[in-house]
Amino acid sequence: SSAVTKSTKIVLNLESLGSLPADEAGPLARYASTIQAQRHDYNGKVLSIRAEDLKSLAIIYDMSPDELTTRLIEWGVLSPGADGVGYATEE
Ligand code: C2E
Ligand code: C2E
Ligand code: C2E
Repeated sequence: SSAVTKSTKIVLNLESLGSLPADEAGPLARYASTIQAQRHDYNGKVLSIRAEDLKSLAIIYDMSPDELTTRLIEWGVLSPGADGVGYATEE
């Protein structure tokens, strides 16, 4: 698949998320805000979320997880893979 694989850590770019139109990014922005509040994690430029959360978000957006992943990459909210520019992890 060309999208992020199941084992890739999902790291949202909060600055890109904040600059998107609310009608598209609204549900995702609210979801991320809720996680930040639960963790008391407000200072980050990025937010790591659970793989399970991507599945929940895909249901909210009425897409498959792969389709949502592609959309998030198009929005600039997600780096295109663990080997991509901007965010990398070897774990
Ligand atoms: P950092 O905050 O300096 O953390 C460096 C590494 O320490 C992280 O690499 C992770 O392996 C570990 N680490 C830090 N805090 C935690 C934690 O609460 N739980 C666990 N299990 N490990 C932790 P990682 O994940 O590759 O993140 C790299 C950098 O990206 C972080 O540097 C931080 O600046 C940013 N980052 C990633 N996810 C988040 C997030 O959800 N919130 C915030 N605020 N920053 C994040
Ligand atoms: P919880 O699920 O009962 O998790 C309690 C604590 O276990 C978390 O406190 C965190 O320190 C740790 N923890 C659990 N799963 C993971 C994980 O996959 N990676 C890391 N690094 N740590 C983990 P924390 O962060 O204060 O979160 C409090 C509560 O907020 C969590 O309780 C959960 O109910 C919710 N929450 C926080 N972040 C997320 C998230 O990304 N997705 C979801 N669905 N809930 C989250
Ligand atoms: P991470 O902390 O590097 O954790 C990587 C994976 O290890 C998690 O993937 C999860 O499968 C497992 N894991 C780590 N800690 C716990 C735990 O306390 N309980 C359980 N049941 N599994 C754990 P996952 O779930 O896809 O999460 C990806 C990343 O999202 C985590 O990387 C962490 O950066 C962040 N995250 C997820 N949940 C929480 C949370 O509740 N609190 C915080 N602070 N960060 C979280």
